[in-house]
Amino acid sequence: MCMNFDTGRNPTDEEIREAERILKQRPIKQKDHPSAVAANHKKLSHINTYGDLPNFYLDQPFTCRQCGKREIWKAKDQKWYYEEAKGHIDARAVECHACRKAKKSSNSD
Ligand SMILES: [Zn+2]
Repeated sequence: MCMNFDTGRNPTDEEIREAERILKQRPIKQKDHPSAVAANHKKLSHINTYGDLPNFYLDQPFTCRQCGKREIWKAKDQKWYYEEAKGHIDARAVECHACRKAKKSSNSD
């Protein structure tokens, strides 16, 4: 098994640029991108949407609303969030790993 701790926590500028570039491409090109992860619609049955379910996930660069750090919400983490954690389809990553962790530990006090 390949141990790859590619969490999107400390992306290089190049990774962010590539993620932004591929998000602007047509779906036909996006699905063949190395970062694309296929969606399992059976696991998305909790989502009531009049729109289309995604066929795949792509790495999503975002800026932390707390500290302004640039991170990438990895496609595989989105798959976990929507399909295993049953997250809302419109939910997006808004805070970086460090800010989420800080919040979690202050909540548990
Ligand atoms: Zn942050």
